[in-house]
Amino acid sequence: MTDAKRIDGKAAAATLREHIATDVAALKQSHGITPGLAVVLVGEDPASLIYVRSKSKQIASCGMASFEHRRPETTSQADLLTLIDALNRDDAIHGILVQLPLPAHIDEYTAVNAVAPEKDVDGFHVLNAGRLSVGADAMTPCTPLGCLALLEGERGDLSGLDAVVVGRSNVVGKPMAALLLRANCTVTVAHSRTRDLPAVCRRADILVAAVGKPELIRGDWIKPGATVIDVGIHRVDVEGSPGKTRLVGDVAFAEALTVAGAITPVPGGVGPMTIAMLLGNTLTAAQRIAGLPATL
Ligand code: NAP
Repeated sequence: MTDAKRIDGKAAAATLREHIATDVAALKQSHGITPGLAVVLVGEDPASLIYVRSKSKQIASCGMASFEHRRPETTSQADLLTLIDALNRDDAIHGILVQLPLPAHIDEYTAVNAVAPEKDVDGFHVLNAGRLSVGADAMTPCTPLGCLALLEGERGDLSGLDAVVVGRSNVVGKPMAALLLRANCTVTVAHSRTRDLPAVCRRADILVAAVGKPELIRGDWIKPGATVIDVGIHRVDVEGSPGKTRLVGDVAFAEALTVAGAITPVPGGVGPMTIAMLLGNTLTAAQRIAGLPATL
């Protein structure tokens, strides 16, 4: 059997960014609106700093405005809520992203739900989660949205396919399952209490791994020809090479490559699409706030 096709998330994200840049230019010209994204970062988490920089750069490259609000680790919850309230009222800002994780003294649920639902480009507000689950227009979390775009790019119509999502977090697993259900898949959501996970995975035409465990999903858990989307991202030591590390996903890639029909690599799969979808959600928010139809 030949190796699985590697789904190129970088290329798909670049194509999506081109569409977004075109639509942003059109929105500016027709209505004088420049979509603006505010990113709020509390503390000095190094991974968050890298994400925020990358997001700001890409926002600018699509012709949108980016506003960075950095606050020290010691910022109180009340001060953070005051900042979010000011951003909610600011007409130049169409999307607000509160970078997670927040310091332990700040309640994440309260902070996330303080963002105006129409500016909630992360799609984490409870109102957007509810809208997604009842099939209404919602701001949808970027990572599952990116996974769906890759899946549809690869398989076209997903109707009737058996989809297994491993992981039930509010940011990936649950919204992913809702999107697949909306795309008419038969959806199974697996988690840490699932019995015989390998057998459950083997039923999947579409397998989405969002477990947060390096290489948990082995090649012999995969149905031959399945499309595998690996959301996980982990830095692990290279055996026998002290000090050297490499990035891996939740799927044992080399094993999966010999069984799957197509698979996203790590890095270069889901990650680039997540950021591109954030840009897309910012454009959509700006269009909806102006009472215009979303173009993406
Ligand atoms: P999370 O909140 O930790 O959720 C992990 C889920 O996996 C939970 O539902 C958990 O089950 C389940 N799980 C854990 N161990 C399991 C096991 N042995 N068997 C079956 N299920 C198991 O993680 P997350 O935020 O959804 O993220 C998942 C992964 O995606 C992480 O590696 C994260 O870094 C990555 N991620 C990547 C991107 C990207 O842009 N590429 C974006 C977001 C997240 P229970 O609910 O029963 O505990």
